[in-house]
Amino acid sequence: MERLDRLLEPHARVRVARPGRPDPEGRCVLYWMQRSQRGRDNGALNLAIALGNALGLPVATVFGLTADYPGAERRHYRFLLEGLVDAAADLEDRGVPLLLGLGRPDEVVLRFVKALSPAIVIGDENPVRPGVFWRERVTEGLSMPLRFVDTDVVVPTSFFPNEEFAARTIRPKIHRLWNEYLKPIPNPVAKTRFTTPLAVEGARLEIEPLMEALKVGGAGEVAGYRGGSREAERRLTRFLGERLSRYESERNQPTPYMTSELSAHLHFGHISPLTIALAIRSADAPQESIASALEELIVRRELAINFVARNPRYDQLAGCPDWALKTLRAHANDPRPFHYSKAQFEDAATHDHVWNAAQREMTITGRMHNYLRMYWAKKILEWTPDAETAFGIALELNDRYEMDGRDPNGYTGVAWAIGGKHDRPWPERPIFGTVRYMNEAGIRRKLDCEAYLAWVSALG
Ligand SMILES: Cc1cc2nc3c(=O)[nH]c(=O)nc-3n(C[C@H](O)[C@H](O)[C@H](O)COP(=O)(O)OP(=O)(O)OC[C@H]3O[C@@H](n4cnc5c(N)ncnc54)[C@H](O)[C@@H]3O)c2cc1C
Repeated sequence: MERLDRLLEPHARVRVARPGRPDPEGRCVLYWMQRSQRGRDNGALNLAIALGNALGLPVATVFGLTADYPGAERRHYRFLLEGLVDAAADLEDRGVPLLLGLGRPDEVVLRFVKALSPAIVIGDENPVRPGVFWRERVTEGLSMPLRFVDTDVVVPTSFFPNEEFAARTIRPKIHRLWNEYLKPIPNPVAKTRFTTPLAVEGARLEIEPLMEALKVGGAGEVAGYRGGSREAERRLTRFLGERLSRYESERNQPTPYMTSELSAHLHFGHISPLTIALAIRSADAPQESIASALEELIVRRELAINFVARNPRYDQLAGCPDWALKTLRAHANDPRPFHYSKAQFEDAATHDHVWNAAQREMTITGRMHNYLRMYWAKKILEWTPDAETAFGIALELNDRYEMDGRDPNGYTGVAWAIGGKHDRPWPERPIFGTVRYMNEAGIRRKLDCEAYLAWVSALG
């Protein structure tokens, strides 16, 4: 009982959506896996297993797979399904079945709750709009207690109840707290197993039939860009062994990448940011590289999560700061040197070879290097009739083709490039006003563009 009370104590990482003690008639503990699509280093799953062990109840995980996730394409679905295969195997090792339901996640969860009668339901947090909507529907539809664990950040989002102004305002707060939260994650195993067949059956987790059943179109799969926790671990090992020591000096070079290339795996929750941060912190690498990798992974990433969690207009130009909106309006009628339609951008048919190469890298490989992403989005602003149109085109193309698209980092990146989010005013110039400008000469000075163009052209 004492252990159960400890597990139910309020915590910065745990939000109580429906209060109360676990239902004594409940038959299991249910974990609703939404964003944290992994079977290890998952605080929400760990809490569900610890509660199951304290209550002497088995634990089940439910995942609702919708074919209608806004903006998701074939490449994202395959990546997600590959991740679920790894998650199911890790869950199995921990004595927890994964129940897959087809349909809108909130409806799937409520269907499984009805069939399984859990004593308590545990979910994971996800700040984007569809996640918030599903969580509200599930909260309204349940009769038993419900808690959400903020397990895809290092420092819990609840510490930052307001929208942060910039990296410089959130950084000292994160630095004050991160030692408390940068701790290894215990991964308990469920002691009690289901002894009779479950009252409800999940869909079979087989990638090809599911891809067929989902009938998703759009941006095709990317050969060799695999989802899942195994691939995330492989990339982390490669990063620590081959790239981290050069991260500070070479991370802005796209050929070859010196970054982790873990953003899509982080987006789908195939790996925990805590796992990555702990590994980076204890790596044998120069301190400046360690500091700069932790800055991107924790400060920048969690600033982006704060923006999406606290600003309801995170995916519109209107969510950007007033100074930027004003200056963009003041320059709305400035003549543009080039005008391109969305289709021309999508087809990489501009006059700028570097821009076209970045666009092609994204459509073919599902990624684009961070430095080029900044340039890419800023040029869309320069070559469209107005900032709203630019914002819409940049976000649509980013979300369609980037494997890590539809992420808080993407909304923030586009808002930074086009709407000055988290940035400051710069010297005034045409079209951009005081929003920071980037030009082709600058990017050619910074990057080895010839090597990059040759590399992209070899992609086919
Ligand atoms: C216009 C634009 C669009 C972007 N769209 C996306 C997107 O859709 N999805 C996405 O995840 N990121 C996006 N970013 C942010 C950044 O470019 C990527 O996170 C980064 O390039 C991913 O590569 P990596 O995993 O090798 O990063 P690493 O350098 O290895 O960094 C490790 C992790 O830190 C985080 N990170 C790194 N850079 C940033 C940053 N600038 N802001 C916030 N977090 C960061 C990411 O989670 C990343 O995986 C965008 C940036 C811009 C300017």
